[in-house]
Amino acid sequence: MKYYILFGPPGAGKGTQATAMVEKYNLRHISTGALLREEIAAGTELGLKAKALIDAGALVPDEVVEGMIENLFKTVKDVDGFLLDGFPRTIAQAEALDRILALGDEEVTSVVSIMIPDEMIKERIRHRAAIEGRADDASEETINNRIKTYHDKTEPLIDFYRKAGKYAEINGTGSIEEVRDAIFTLMDKF
Ligand code: ADP
Repeated sequence: MKYYILFGPPGAGKGTQATAMVEKYNLRHISTGALLREEIAAGTELGLKAKALIDAGALVPDEVVEGMIENLFKTVKDVDGFLLDGFPRTIAQAEALDRILALGDEEVTSVVSIMIPDEMIKERIRHRAAIEGRADDASEETINNRIKTYHDKTEPLIDFYRKAGKYAEINGTGSIEEVRDAIFTLMDKF
């Protein structure tokens, strides 16, 4: 099984590119953000707790998302691999992922990182807010907190995966097609 991580700041275009990637490489897309939004929509206890954190631009506890991921690895079989989108987001999550994969004698295949500057993050999220209506895209304060959370908690993963020799970065400022083609060229190498 392949285990790809789709990495990048909020608004980098991970969700958009994930659709093309899963189709071409027969992967199961796992977006922890989307899974959490499903919990919120279903009104579960977990969703209720997650909503307050998400609306504040904070992260939900590591154990919550780790449990979701582990569950899907166990149950989804009819694919060539997984595309993790929005996970891991902390060093602790990355270490947990390594432990979970090691149990099945597996490891992370590679990290595909889509990079855009902070100004573009805000622009993209504002644009998305008008289309998708996500609560956490609507407030400037939440967006600023998400960008801060990304820099503080998630960005250290770049070094973590660089050291493991698994990190590859794509310039995310081009068109959807340009970014997609750059990702495909990269993934064909793994
Ligand atoms: P974006 O890429 O725009 O930040 P996501 O859909 O990936 O959006 O995530 C939305 C929110 O869900 C995050 O801001 C965070 O609160 C929560 N979330 C998603 N994935 C994780 C994760 N791996 N760990 C903790 N919180 C997460």
